[in-house]
Amino acid sequence: MSLIDPQHTPPQQAQQQQMPQQKVQGKAVFFDRDGVLNIDHGYTHRVEDCALIDGAAEAVRMVNDHGYLAFVVTNQGGIALGLYSEADMQAFHQHLFQRIHDASGGVITDTRFCPHHPKSEDPSLQDCTCRKPSPKMILDLAQQHNIDLSQSVMIGDRDTDVEAGQSAGCQTVLFKGGRLDDALKPLISTKEG
Ligand SMILES: [Zn+2]
Repeated sequence: MSLIDPQHTPPQQAQQQQMPQQKVQGKAVFFDRDGVLNIDHGYTHRVEDCALIDGAAEAVRMVNDHGYLAFVVTNQGGIALGLYSEADMQAFHQHLFQRIHDASGGVITDTRFCPHHPKSEDPSLQDCTCRKPSPKMILDLAQQHNIDLSQSVMIGDRDTDVEAGQSAGCQTVLFKGGRLDDALKPLISTKEG
């Protein structure tokens, strides 16, 4: 006797109702990259130059543990200046994010970068709407990942990072050195939601 009783197989698949997206919004921490996650050597792009800031890996893990997604928003004008390629940058990101994960288990969920620079020799790479202090990279990530920006934090080492975060409606941290997790901790909410 078959274990599968044809009489009891489910009826035709219930029609998947297309519900409008009403998902509860999440929260996020937006990290600047150079000088925040990794030591800034000036247009840092070589994997061998990747050195973590003290407490950076722990900071990513800490925010994950408190229900925040971790994102990176970074101006990479070195691409427009011809100093390195987008592929070089992607290789650096892969290495950096793996280092963070290996060190703490922290996960960077997504990244936005601005490859433009006002001093590029290529006019098409000079002007843009994404370069910080524009909030566009933050707003794009928030829209894609359904993030409540009022519950979110931007941390960077430059005024342009703070300006971008404020324009996006985030809380902001100007990182002035020391351990990154210590700098971020006061703004990380331990309550759910
Ligand atoms: Zn740009």
